[in-house]
Amino acid sequence: MVVKNFIRAIKTVYTPSVTRLYPEVPSNLPDRFRGLQKLDKSKCIGCGICANTCPNNAIKIVKDGRWFPSLDVGHCMFCGLCIDQCPQEALSSTKVYTGELVKWDHHKLLFTPSMLAREVPLKKEGEK
Ligand code: SF4
Ligand code: SF4
Repeated sequence: MVVKNFIRAIKTVYTPSVTRLYPEVPSNLPDRFRGLQKLDKSKCIGCGICANTCPNNAIKIVKDGRWFPSLDVGHCMFCGLCIDQCPQEALSSTKVYTGELVKWDHHKLLFTPSMLAREVPLKKEGEK
């Protein structure tokens, strides 16, 4: 039994790894993957349909010059309904699902319109 396990261990050293170093090595995500939404402010008319559609009440319409959606990522389940229902196609999905979305405090998961539009970084410098 010990010899059998030893042989198996030796063989494993020379076989390709079936795991990867996460998150340093990102996953290969399909094109239809639903990650963090991106907002195109030039298309958004502040109608609030995305907020009314969201089953988790994760979206609030806030004033940021004009009216735009803000997103509580802590409540979002990435169902994509807000994207599907937007009459202006102002929201789209990205492949962002880790890193920028991992925060210690819930209030840091409240993404402003500027953050959703990527006008400001999703993570502050030095923020863990
Ligand atoms: S993102 Fe779309 S649905 Fe949401 S407020 Fe803007 S235009 Fe309306
Ligand atoms: S993806 Fe779904 S849960 Fe997330 S904000 Fe849009 S509608 Fe709400």
